[in-house]
Amino acid sequence: MKKHIYLDYAAATPMDPVVKKATEPYWSERFHNPSAIYLSSRAVKKDLDTFRARVARLLGAKPAEIVFTSGATEANNLAISGVMSRHPKGELLVSAIEHESVLEPAKLYKNKQVPVDSNGRIILNKLSNLISDKTILVSIMMVNNELGTVQPLSEVSNLITQVREARLKSGNHLPLYLHSDGAQAGNYFDLQASRLGVDMMTVNGGKIYGPKQSGALLAKAGVDLAPLILGGGQEYGRRSGTESLALIAGFTEALEQAQSKYKQELKRTRELREFFAAELQNHLGDLTINGSIKHQSPHILSITLPGADNERLVMELDEAGIQVGVGSACSAAKGQSSHVLAAIGLSSKLARSTLRFSFGRQTTKEDLSYAVKTLVRLTAVQR
Ligand code: PLP
Repeated sequence: MKKHIYLDYAAATPMDPVVKKATEPYWSERFHNPSAIYLSSRAVKKDLDTFRARVARLLGAKPAEIVFTSGATEANNLAISGVMSRHPKGELLVSAIEHESVLEPAKLYKNKQVPVDSNGRIILNKLSNLISDKTILVSIMMVNNELGTVQPLSEVSNLITQVREARLKSGNHLPLYLHSDGAQAGNYFDLQASRLGVDMMTVNGGKIYGPKQSGALLAKAGVDLAPLILGGGQEYGRRSGTESLALIAGFTEALEQAQSKYKQELKRTRELREFFAAELQNHLGDLTINGSIKHQSPHILSITLPGADNERLVMELDEAGIQVGVGSACSAAKGQSSHVLAAIGLSSKLARSTLRFSFGRQTTKEDLSYAVKTLVRLTAVQR
């Protein structure tokens, strides 16, 4: 029987049955528009308020600080453009390895990129030197989607606090905000914004076993955010459009599930990653593991196999029943080489020999053993 081994959880996660069940009442029964004033609508509005309060509690925020969005792309766009369009003369700093949904809107404003080291972590003193009197926003992701590196957010937050204090003393009253894209972090890390020290944070339902096109931007009170989508003024005027209760219900449930088990998932997935990495190193010889040893999310393993052609390998692995990615799904679809791998100093040739394995709730050791065996067989032919 053909195997089906899914090792691309950083691209998409299957919806949790409990999450799916939570969405169900809102498709056909409780379909009413929460802005109407009759009883059924008011009941739906009450549910919406409850979901918002639950998400706020899970993220360590107030309900009014939660903007439900159509996923992380919209949340990132809202964070960048929402702040920067209020400060057309201001400057923006983003890490060189942000997702395209941060990098692309950043291009609309005066922006600079913060470089990363060869492990994919931002270089803090470079960030510090890049912050100017006009910097309004710094956007540094929590976990990189191609490498799995965890960024030093609390250090960044401390740095920003110091800059704010110095600004106040010097009479500079421009705001300085910290945004973090947490799209890849929800299954393995604590998302309490107050502990993380962020002003804005992106959360993505589609990566935490929730519905795709669901998610939220947390924007702390006081962040002056211009809406991207204008209309009926929903989401406290920050995102117009009739709310999708089904997606919001699913997202809330998914976030609650993910945050309630992140510690055990971190441990379990770390063991799987260590097992897989050791097996690959034992059986494949010439390979490099990209990312950081110390600051690493357990669900992503990026490897470079010099001499191998990653696209061909992905196809051949697929034929053998194993689904993996070549870096990020978005860049791969456009046939572009990865800006993340370039930022850590990989040549485009080595980038074309790089694969991203990513693990999740259904991954087992047996799956990984089979993947190693298959990879050994396929690379023996290619290299
Ligand atoms: N940010 C990161 C770090 C991601 O990994 C992704 C998706 O891969 C996104 C943002 C965009 O998410 P979506 O396409 O679900 O909006």
